[in-house]
This record gives sequence, structure tokens and C-alpha cells, in this order.
Amino acid sequence: MQIPFIDLKTQYENMKEEMDQAIHEVLDSSQFILGPAVTQCETSLEEYVGVKHAWAVASGTDALMMALMALEVGPGDEVIVPGFSFFATAEAVSLVGATPVFVDIDPVTYNINTDLLESAFTEKTKAIIPVGLYGQPSDMDAINTLAQKHGVAVVEDAAQSFGSSYKGKKSGGLGTIGCTSFFPAKPLGCYGDGGAVFTDDDQLAEVLRQIRMHGEVERYSHGRLGINGRMDSIQCAVINVKLPKFNQEVEQRQVVAKRYLQGLADVSELVLPVVSDDCVSAWAQFTVRVSNRPQVQERLKEKGVPTAVHYPSPMYKQPVYKDLVQGLELPECEKASQQVMSLPMHPFLQEETQDYIISALKEAVR
Ligand SMILES: *Cc1c(COP(=O)(O)O)cnc(C)c1O
Repeated sequence: MQIPFIDLKTQYENMKEEMDQAIHEVLDSSQFILGPAVTQCETSLEEYVGVKHAWAVASGTDALMMALMALEVGPGDEVIVPGFSFFATAEAVSLVGATPVFVDIDPVTYNINTDLLESAFTEKTKAIIPVGLYGQPSDMDAINTLAQKHGVAVVEDAAQSFGSSYKGKKSGGLGTIGCTSFFPAKPLGCYGDGGAVFTDDDQLAEVLRQIRMHGEVERYSHGRLGINGRMDSIQCAVINVKLPKFNQEVEQRQVVAKRYLQGLADVSELVLPVVSDDCVSAWAQFTVRVSNRPQVQERLKEKGVPTAVHYPSPMYKQPVYKDLVQGLELPECEKASQQVMSLPMHPFLQEETQDYIISALKEAVR
């Protein structure tokens, strides 16, 4: 038995006819950049997230970078980020010339530890980027309150938490600007690279619109520096087919997560994920902690069960930040990077397959 880590094939087969037609409509129209598919995508994203403005952009990384550009974050500025996330969270800060300031994570949620936030602020702080790691939003009330107190913006990195909610409000709409990714393996993925930025602020929305297109205020008149940050029309057509089915998939992810939680509840060698009462997770990943990870991964592999490590190193330990952080050690980020292991997780995971994974994991840890 070889189990896929995520199953994009089944998802496509379930909507093949509709998907092929939507893609062919774009091909027939020959409108590959912007146009009706993109507008439709943005309108439905606004509705889904519950924000005034959404722009479809080229990737989650571009979304973060464009958000920081719109907020005029640049050289000399500091941006607070969790020490543990996908590298793009910190990379976007560095790409605009600002300095990422790394804060340790909460060992239960893996998100930025809001108790440690206050001491990370300086006069140079311009923004904070909370990340909804593995699908669960950060403690956004605490973060927004602190940000307001210090007069800084909140850029929500919802690349993994898109589809989740916090106190009944959808992720992506929980900060000053929300950013997400439609990379194929994210909860809502397209068939290539893509992403989106969200905001309720009319002025920021206009600036983001300009930044997405080389800072164009109108055609060939560039009022600021921007990038080529557009999402392709074909990718937007893919999202247009997938988005109406997305809530159903997020619900199915709850079912899968619950079955893991129940099936693994009595395995003392594992620390299982915990979702706060305030949140519904998008379950981008189902991530456990295990102390002898390499052996467990190897044993699971022998049984045809793939696992992944998100992530084997904290962001500040990346070689590129060697001089910047000068030996910084955030103990919970360190521990997490050594212990976390993600199990196959997608809405189409069959019960029998999942039970096989559960018993294989039970054997592997003992
Ligand atoms: C995937 C991811 C990104 C980057 O998204 P891309 O679309 O791959 O550029 C940023 N932040 C987090 C937390 C991610 O998981």
C-alpha cells in the first residue's frame, strides 16, 4: 500500500467536467491576464472571507511582500514574525529591506506566543505578521490590541489557515491586510502558483491594486514602484470552480482530524494537535509531536505511510539569517522543529486508509 500525502487527483476527478470547462472558457476567450475570471474570483473571495476588497495575486509570497510595500515598510523598519513558519513569512520582510524580529511560539498552537510580544516592540516596529500555522489562526484579539496600542499594522499570513475561522470570523480578514496562498498543497489550491490579499481599508486596497501592476495609477503612468503580482486568469478559473466546494472540504477535514484525534488519543508517545475553543482549524496539516521522529518516519515509510516535517529548522536558523540573529535561540521553536511530524491530511482520506495510518503509527512509536 502506498498512501498519498495529499490527494489532488481525487479532488480533480470529482470536478473534472466543470474544471475542464472553466479552463477551456479562458482558453477560448484568450484573456489570460485579468478579465472576467479574475474579477469573478476576487468577488467571490471577498464574499467568502467577508472583506471589502480582495485582489488575486501571483503567490502567497508576493501577497506578503505587496502587503508590506502597501504599508510602506522598508529599510530601517522592523517587522515582528514568529520564529517558526514557512520561510516566506520572514523572507517577505527581508525582500522589502526591513528586518524580521523573531518571537518564540506557543508550544500548544505553534503560533506566535502573544505573552512574549510586548517586549519585541521597539520604535522601529512597523508591522507584525501572525501566521496561522497548520491551519489554526493566531490569538488575533491579543495581537490586534497590542498592534493598535503601538500603532503598527497587522499582516495576517493566512497561507495555511485559509478556510479557518477565529471567533466566527474567517481567516484572511483578521488583520489590517490578510494574505493567502493558493499553492496546490494549501487548503484551497490552484493548479500552479497563486494567492490573494484582503483588506477592508479602501485606501490600502487602491494602493495594493496599483502595486500588483507595477505601481500603475492608470495605464503607463507609474505613481509608485510595484511588481508584476497578478494571478493568471486560468488559475483564477480553477479557484472559481473550487471555492464553492471549499466549505464542504473544510468540513470533511474536520471529520478526518477528529478521527485521527480519537484514534490516537491513547498513544502516550505522541502529542496531538490542539485547536483553541475560539477557532475552527482549516487543518492544512495534521501535525503531531514525537520524540524519536527519524525512526518513526522510517518505520512509517516502510509501511507505505508518507510523513512530512513542517519545518525541520526555525526560520531564524536559516543560513541567510546567520549574521542577523547571531546565535538567537527560541526554545519552543527549536523543540518544535525537532519533534513535529505531519500525517497524510486531505478531505478525501478514506476511513480504512486512515485506520491503517493510525495503526501503523501506533506500531511505529512503540
Ligand atoms: C506557503 C506559505 C507561504 C508562501 O506561499 P507561496 O504561494 O508558496 O508563495 C507563506 N507563508 C506560509 C505560512 C506558507 O505556508
